[in-house]
Amino acid sequence: MADLNLPEKMSCDVLIIGAGPAGASLAYFLSLCDCKTILVEKKKVPDFPVRCAELVSKNLFSLFREKVKGINSEISSMQTYINGKMENEIPSPSVMLDREVFIDSLIQIFIKNGGIFLNPASFDRIISFNKNKKEINPDDFIKNNFANNDTLVKKEAVIEKRKNIIFNNNSDSVNAAVFKKDTDKSIAINAKIIACAEGFSGKLRGIIDKASFREDSSSYVLAYQETIKKKNKYSDKAMIFFYPYIANGYGWVFPKRDTLNVGIGMGISDSNQNKENLQDRYNMFKKDIRTSGFISGGEKLIKNITGTAPCRGIRYPVSFLNFVFAGDAAGLCNPVTGAGIYNAVLSSKIISDNISGFLKTGDYNMLEEINQKIKSYFSSSIERALKKRQEINKYWPGSDFERLIRRTWVSFKDYWKK
Ligand SMILES: Cc1cc2nc3c(=O)[nH]c(=O)nc-3n(C[C@H](O)[C@H](O)[C@H](O)COP(=O)(O)OP(=O)(O)OC[C@H]3O[C@@H](n4cnc5c(N)ncnc54)[C@H](O)[C@@H]3O)c2cc1C
Repeated sequence: MADLNLPEKMSCDVLIIGAGPAGASLAYFLSLCDCKTILVEKKKVPDFPVRCAELVSKNLFSLFREKVKGINSEISSMQTYINGKMENEIPSPSVMLDREVFIDSLIQIFIKNGGIFLNPASFDRIISFNKNKKEINPDDFIKNNFANNDTLVKKEAVIEKRKNIIFNNNSDSVNAAVFKKDTDKSIAINAKIIACAEGFSGKLRGIIDKASFREDSSSYVLAYQETIKKKNKYSDKAMIFFYPYIANGYGWVFPKRDTLNVGIGMGISDSNQNKENLQDRYNMFKKDIRTSGFISGGEKLIKNITGTAPCRGIRYPVSFLNFVFAGDAAGLCNPVTGAGIYNAVLSSKIISDNISGFLKTGDYNMLEEINQKIKSYFSSSIERALKKRQEINKYWPGSDFERLIRRTWVSFKDYWKK
């Protein structure tokens, strides 16, 4: 139970909630530009157990100035199979990560550069905002900072007219309560900016979304994956499989050095609420790929995981009051492929540039500019994927399954047609 007397106080320029790819990389980038940063992670061992297929574009590593660890093996191409038949193979220069090594490497560099890492510790609540040296409670602050207060009463109107609402990023700082689990104490942290890097369903995001009256669509991908010991010789191809029974989704076999990540992700939406079949469908998939010789069968199981990936599109605004959103919290996970690591890190790099500019100049436009930058980097690819995701959810499997896949999967030309 949190000690709400808040005996300890800390302050920083940026408080980051969550040490996944977005938060750990934001901490890394900010530590290179002398921002006083506190990174908070609720898990004892960050990013463990890893809930991820760990395939990421090779470009990821060019985003870092220093040598960051975590590459397990290289991938050269992606093969796409429909009902067991290979339809195409495209170049796909990627790597398989050891994700927990990657995250740990970022955190270690952050700490070496003077960053403060608090874990296991979780964001608890916003205590207050400071404006013009006055402390104001969060509800009052948020109400006072909507340019058109009158629309606050009408929830639907706000959502529709969201584009017209102006958010003033002009409080001096925010006080947040963070609960440090090992000491059973709450710490009051004063920060100029709080970065929400909690993934797509965190507590902070819930609070802010409530304040900004956002509503989320319920579409997401539910995944099950096994990591199994490799029996076959080394392969550097990522394999993607479509079968009608993997509803609204796909199966994958991604090779690491000694193991394979084998999994399926099923899209869950209004049209498909079939969550309980995940394990059955995975077993069908495993049988099919064994029959076709993609795995030999009888491989030793190293671990299994379930996970959820969002299919919601970008959360605008990503810079709001004294908050910024990165990675899945900003809605940057691709709604079709489920890939989100590269976008998480790239968003953090963009955000860190602007935060450091803001801290140097005090110019709030630097924070506002994050919205435009995120839009220009990510909106066309995420919006296209979101449309494809809606098509998948609506028509799956359809009378012409192959055509649906060709229209909605990234390795086919039809996906990219206007
Ligand atoms: C099964 C599966 C397979 C995937 N495979 C791939 C893949 O192969 N390639 C790819 O690019 N992407 C993949 N993804 C997507 C990818 O995992 C995410 O897009 C990526 O992890 C997003 O990073 P993030 O830092 O934004 O969020 P997260 O990774 O969700 O990290 C959020 C962190 O915040 C912490 N946190 C949450 N709330 C609090 C709190 N209140 N206080 C403190 N800490 C908190 C969490 O513990 C977590 O460490 C996959 C997703 C799933 C589910």
